[in-house]
Amino acid sequence: MARRRQIYEGKAKILYEGPEPGTINGKGVINNRISEYVFTRLSHIGIHTHFIRRLNMREQLVRQVEIIPLEVVVRNVAAGTLSKRLGIEEGELLPHTLIEYCLKDDALGDPKVSEEEIACFNWCSHEELQDMSSMAIRINDFLSGMFSAIDIRLIDFKLEFGRIWDGDFSRVILADEISPDGCRLWDINTGEKLDKDRFRRDLGGESEAYQEVARRLGLLQNEDSGPGEVLDMNAHRGRLRTPSKPKK
Ligand code: 5GP
Repeated sequence: MARRRQIYEGKAKILYEGPEPGTINGKGVINNRISEYVFTRLSHIGIHTHFIRRLNMREQLVRQVEIIPLEVVVRNVAAGTLSKRLGIEEGELLPHTLIEYCLKDDALGDPKVSEEEIACFNWCSHEELQDMSSMAIRINDFLSGMFSAIDIRLIDFKLEFGRIWDGDFSRVILADEISPDGCRLWDINTGEKLDKDRFRRDLGGESEAYQEVARRLGLLQNEDSGPGEVLDMNAHRGRLRTPSKPKK
C-alpha cells in the first residue's frame, strides 16, 4: 500500500495507482461489500462499470477512467435538497422519476447545473449525457426492485460516470460506488432511515443502519464482515425527525 502512487483523493476514498489500472481504499468495509454486490448485480443486467474485483475488506480494483465532473442524482421520492429547494414535503412520491445533474465541486457545494450549462462548459457531450441518463433510469429500475425485495424504499441516489477510451472512441461507464453513503434508503414499513442521513442529521446509528442494509442483502455471513445477527436499531428510534444539518 505505502509505495503506491496516489492518483486521486476524494471525500470518501483514495485512488492509488496499482499493478492494474487503479484501486480504491474505501472508507468502510460495509460500503465496500455493498458496492461490490451492487456493481456485480448491475453488470449482470448489462451495465458497464469500472469495478473489476474486491481485493480485500477495504480495497477494490477498478478500471481507471476519466471521471466526468458531474453527479447524476436520481429521485423517486422528495427528500433532501429537492424538498428544501421546492418546499415539497420529504416522503412525497414524485409524479415521475427525476434526474438532476450537479457539478462535482466541493468548494462550490456540488451545485445543481442545467443541461445548457453542461453543454456550454463542455463537461460532457450531449451523447454522453443521454447515455448517462438512460443508464441511470435502468439502474434506478433495477435497484428499486432489488431494495424493495428486502423491504427498503429507494428514495434517491447519486451516480458518477467515467470515460474510457478505445483509440479515438470513448464511452461512459458507471464509476465511483453505490452504497448507503450516496443513496437514501428508508425501511418500507417503518420509514427508518438506513443511510448517511443518520450522520448528516445527527440521528446516530449510522454503522448499525449500514450493517442492516448489508444484512438484508445477505452480505454478512462471512467472518471478515462482522456479525450476522439482526442489528438493533431501537436505540436510535424516536430521533428520526431531528432537523437536518448541512453535512455532505
Ligand atoms: P441531496 O441533493 O438531496 O442532498 O442528495 C440526493 C441524493 O444524492 C442522496 O441520496 C445523497 O446521498 C446523494 N448525494 C448527493 N450529493 C452527494 C455527495 O456529494 N456525496 C454523497 N455521498 N452522496 C451525495
